[in-house]
Order: sequence, then C-alpha cells, then structure tokens
Amino acid sequence: VVHWLMKKFNIPLTVLSHLGGHSAKRTHRAPPDEHGNPVPIGFLIMKTLKDYIDSTLSNQITVRTGTTVTRLLQRTDFRTGVKCIYGVEYRIRADSASKEKETLEADAVILTTGGFGCDRTNNGVMSKYRPDLLGFPTTCGDFAVGDGVLMGQEIGAELVDMDKVQLHPTGFIDPKNPGNPTKFLAPEAIRGSGAILVNQKGERFVNELDLRSVVSKGIIDNCAEYEGTNSKFAWCIMNKATQFLFGDKVLDFYKDRLGLFSVATDLADIASITGCPLNTLMKTINEYADAEQQGICKKTRKVVFPSSISVNDREFLIARVTPSIHYCMGGLNINAAAEVQEIIPGKVVGSHRHIRRLFAAGEVTGGVHGNNRLGGNSLLECVVFGRIAGFRAAALNQREGFDSGCLKEEEWTLVDLREVRNTDDKYGRNTREYRFNLNGSLQKTGLKVGQFIAIRGEMDGEMLTGYYSPITRPDDEGVIGILCRPDYKGGPIVKLLQYIRPGSYIEMKAMGGLKLEFLPSQGVFWKGRRIRKFGFLAGGTGVSPMLQISREYLNFLNMNKASKEPVDVQPNALNMLYAAEEENDLAFLKALENLESDYPLDFKFYPLLNQPPMGWTEGIGFVTETHIKAHLPYPPCDDQLFVICGPQIFESIMCKHLQSLGYSQEWYYAYSKDV
Ligand SMILES: Cc1cc2nc3c(=O)[nH]c(=O)nc-3n(C[C@H](O)[C@H](O)[C@H](O)COP(=O)(O)OP(=O)(O)OC[C@H]3O[C@@H](n4cnc5c(N)ncnc54)[C@H](O)[C@@H]3O)c2cc1C
Repeated sequence: VVHWLMKKFNIPLTVLSHLGGHSAKRTHRAPPDEHGNPVPIGFLIMKTLKDYIDSTLSNQITVRTGTTVTRLLQRTDFRTGVKCIYGVEYRIRADSASKEKETLEADAVILTTGGFGCDRTNNGVMSKYRPDLLGFPTTCGDFAVGDGVLMGQEIGAELVDMDKVQLHPTGFIDPKNPGNPTKFLAPEAIRGSGAILVNQKGERFVNELDLRSVVSKGIIDNCAEYEGTNSKFAWCIMNKATQFLFGDKVLDFYKDRLGLFSVATDLADIASITGCPLNTLMKTINEYADAEQQGICKKTRKVVFPSSISVNDREFLIARVTPSIHYCMGGLNINAAAEVQEIIPGKVVGSHRHIRRLFAAGEVTGGVHGNNRLGGNSLLECVVFGRIAGFRAAALNQREGFDSGCLKEEEWTLVDLREVRNTDDKYGRNTREYRFNLNGSLQKTGLKVGQFIAIRGEMDGEMLTGYYSPITRPDDEGVIGILCRPDYKGGPIVKLLQYIRPGSYIEMKAMGGLKLEFLPSQGVFWKGRRIRKFGFLAGGTGVSPMLQISREYLNFLNMNKASKEPVDVQPNALNMLYAAEEENDLAFLKALENLESDYPLDFKFYPLLNQPPMGWTEGIGFVTETHIKAHLPYPPCDDQLFVICGPQIFESIMCKHLQSLGYSQEWYYAYSKDV
C-alpha cells in the first residue's frame, strides 16, 4: 500500500524513520512542507483521498459529514441464523436535540469509526475493559468513543483484545494548561532522532527507543507528578543535532505555534528550568556519550544512538511529556477479507463466520497488532484493510455464477490469494492453509462435498498444477481454502504457493470427486444411495478429502441432533486407515487426532507406517485385507461407501483388496479416476 499511495496518489512517503520498538528504519513519513511545517501523515492521506473523490468520483460517491451513525440495520435468516446488514440508522449532528433518526439502506456497510481512547464515561467501553486508565490523559480526538465497537457488539459481532489499550509515553504537557485531559502528541520521531528522557533527578531511566509500553512504564515508575495534575512526567531533551535530524522548522511549530518546548541555552539553563541538579545532569549526559562510544548503554540496554550529545552542547529544547492513552488494539474481530466476525457454536467446521455485508477497517477493529502496536502501523493497517474492505464490499453483488457457484469443471477461473495461515497447531506439523477470494464476496464455489479442485500457475516458464480438496465448506461465502504441505512432498506446485503473496492471482477449476449430497432431514447420499458408514483408505496427503468429508459429516450430525426432523444415523460411521512412509508423512495428523478426541463415537483412524519410529505402537507395513476387515466397515453392506485417495499404486492395490473382500464396485470410489 505504501507503493500504491505513492504511485497512484503522489503521496510523498519518502522519509524513513526508526520508531520505538523497531529493529530498523521502517516507518514511511512525508517530509515537511515548503515552509518547513510538519505534515501530519494521516491528514495528508485522508485529504488526498478526499480530493480524489471530489475531483474524480463525485458522481459515484456521496460524502456526508456531520452525521452520526447510531445503529446497524440487520436481519437474521431464521433458518440458518446467518445475520445480514442492510444499512444504518443515523442522525444529523446539528439535529441531535431533536432525536430524529433517519435510515440509509445499503448493500454493504464498512465501519471505520476509530477506537475508544477518548471514552471517559463511567459506564462506557474504557471503564468496562480498562478502568485503571480512566484518569490518564489522551492524544485521541473527542470522537473516539467506541461507537462502532458498540454498534457491532449490539448485533453480536465478536470483540477481541478489548483490554489492550496503548499508552503513548510522550503526550506533551502544555505548561499553560497542564490539566487538559487531551494532549498534543510528541511524535515518536523526536525520540527516534535522539531526544533523551530524564526524570526529576536528572537521570535517564529507560531506553528511549524501547516499546511504547516499556517507555510509558518507565515514566510511571521513575518520575514525579506534574504540579497540579495526576500525570507522571519526564523531561524530553533535544540538543542541536537531534533538532536538526528531526527538522528544525517542524520543531518551530511545536515551540512557537504551540508553546510546548522551552529553550535552554546550556545544561545549567536546563537545570534551572527543570529543577534537576546540574551535577546529575552532567553525569547523565557524560554516561550517555560513553554509552554511544561503546555502542550500548548498560543501564537501559539502548543500542541505537541516532545522534550524539555532549555536556558542552548549547541551544537545547526541552518539553514535559506524559504517558497518554493513544491507541486501542482491541475492537471488532475481522478476518483477512475485513469481514466482521461472529462466533458460531459447534467447532467441527470452524468457530466463526462473517456477518454478511458488514466490513470494518482501522482502529475500530481488533487483533491486528497484538498487545502493543508499533509506530506507523495504524495508518498502514487503515490503508491495507480499508482497501480490502472496499474491494470485497464492491464485489458483493457479483452476479456471475452467483446461483450455480463460481468454479466450473469446463473452465479455469482466476482467484486471488487472500491469506496464508500457518496451521501447524491446528491441523498438524508442516501444514499451511491457503485461502483464496472468490470473485464475489457472497459467491459460493458450487462444489459438492468430496469434490476436489485443480489450481495452476506459471513459474519460471513452467506451468505447475496441483490438486486439492477444499478445507472450507461448499456453503462458505466468498472464499475457498486448501490445506497443503509446504515442503517438496506437497508436489511441484508448492514452489508456486511459496512464491505468491496476498493479492496474487492463480487459476482454479472444479474437478471430479465424490460429490456427496448432505440433505437435512434425509441423510447423506452418493449417486442416489443413502450412506450410513464410511471406510476411508488414505495414503500420505491423500487424507485431505477424508478430512473434508469427515468434518462435513460431523457437522451434519450436529445439525441433525438439533433438527426438528432428525434422520436415523449410525454410531462409528467414520473409519479410516491411514498409511504413510514415515511419521512425518502423516499429514494433518493433529486435525485427525482432534476429531477422534472430540467425536470418539463417530470418528476413528488407524495409522500405519512403513518405517515407524522407535516406540511406535500403531500399524506397521502396508495396508492388507486383514487391516481393512479389522478397522473399516465389514462385512460389506449396501449403506457403506469406501473412499480411496493416495498415490496411484496405493489406490489400485486398495481397490483389489476391496474386490477380493467382496465389495462391489459401486461401493468404493478412488480419486485417481478423476485426475
Ligand atoms: C495524535 C495522534 C498521532 C498519531 N500518529 C500516527 C502515526 O504517525 N502513524 C500511525 O500509523 N498512526 C498514528 N496514530 C494512530 C492513527 O492516527 C489512528 O489509529 C487512525 O487515525 C485510526 O483511523 P480510523 O480511520 O480507524 O479512525 P479515526 O481516524 O479515529 O476516524 C474515525 C472517524 O469516524 C468518525 N465517527 C466515529 N463514530 C462515528 C459515528 N457513530 N458516526 C459517524 N462517524 C463516526 C469520527 O468522527 C472520525 O472522523 C496517531 C494517533 C493520534 C491520536
């Protein structure tokens, strides 16, 4: 997005800064304007985009300001429980006294209402999740009161990380109005240019370039309260070299226009303004200069010294800075397509789903930054997820293939990579889930359970193709996910998968496969035959269709239990023999173990290894007829279905075993038949 902002909108993100917690310069900023004034980068991005809309898109986009959204309009599908947003209720701010509300219906709503850093109410979001911070000042605007979070919560959206609220260590205390609860921010680049922080004794107490949380805690633990306030504060000292690095003209703005810096001619002057003992100040500066020489400050572990300082320096700027509420890491849970999530009961096929037609981006969302956002990452997040939300909202009413599904057996469809998930903990060692956006946000794949797909793409002049069973469900909207091994055993296509990044396109098409029908109140059918028991014969990564079928079947059982018209089902319906060369080749093992422990009466699997490790207690060698008789449905019966997937040689041996055990050809299906 940095590239996009620079190339498409000419936003000059040309200055690179080293901010707190960074291991290298990584935050892009704009240089000062032609008069030397600082250019607030968030404002610049917003203004540029607004100008673009006004000049280029004014006939397509209406911007309404002075309008407060008060509620999301939502309806719920009574059959499925799926929630759908169809607009908002709002109030013109000037009319707030009249309490008159209006509604605006829309295909999509994208919430971008920011955080709740300025919520000082006694029963608001801040007091619920971080009551300990209520007395702190804030750098946030007075609109940041959590409206979007509350509106989302009202319709059942999931909130995440709500207790993670960031204190910025350096809100300026304005000596003319020290008790003002809203603070002007002393940008992190001030410390990034070499400013040092000292307490009222004149001692440094923290690595100024450490994480915001660490520097804030340093001030709270080591400094005194500013007179007449409850705010602990530190002195921020900038010598000439630091001022130059940060930008003299920009500092004039803070000093002359805002009156937030005092000027000190030398160290003695600093001592008289701050009340710090001169001797201590001199010792502090000398120690800092020594540390710079040695490349490390042993006291604070500082190792980056953006500029040098000496006791002989003159013309200092000094400011009073205090930890202030700055950013909310928590908010609405969104997925990688910026769709707002809700929790669904039953964990077989995922614990979340999106609220249809509701997206969110920016500080109103949660979970993007973990416990402590790094400087610069918020605006980055706003643009990254803002773009995604815009794209996916615009793709809502994609009609092509809407009803019949968008993946066809006859033709390849372009899909773009949404995200890559490391699923080692969820599905098993050495696994990755690749999720691709379908063209329409509400489109479905049109695949049946058990059907597989092909993906292909060109790499180094070679067309690479791979076959996968989706890990997402046929009913999932706007997305298809595949599970794969990212090493050479995942096949040649892995080279391509490792290379592509979110936003990259590859081609995908529907293939053959089982095509099972899961019909509520009727049962599971294959080619018109009701199936009550499955026997799975899997070799290596050939286990993936079995995983898909098993998850879908267990989900069917859950729904069936809750149904008013349940069908008869049999216990122990899913049985698997899973053969691999060595233990490492048992792909998606964790997923199978989880199914077995969560559904012991319905799902069982028996692994066999050709080269077992020491202490292996399960099957050894090749799958034999004896294994099949012992672990899969036997004797043959016409409500059984055997599914075979693995290397071709494995599949043909398994077919022979089944034939000689008396299973007719209509009772088993081997995947290689359709590749
Ligand atoms: C002083 C300061 C400096 C910062 N500097 C940086 C920086 O250099 N780099 C960086 O990455 N991040 C920075 N941040 C953080 C970053 O600016 C914010 O996280 C970011 O602006 C959030 O953008 P947003 O669009 O999600 O929300 P906001 O910018 O907060 O905008 C939310 C908008 O929604 C409106 N709104 C709220 N409720 C309603 C409602 N009910 N109806 C209608 N409208 C509503 C508000 O009026 C506001 O216009 C800074 C933050 C502050 C406070």
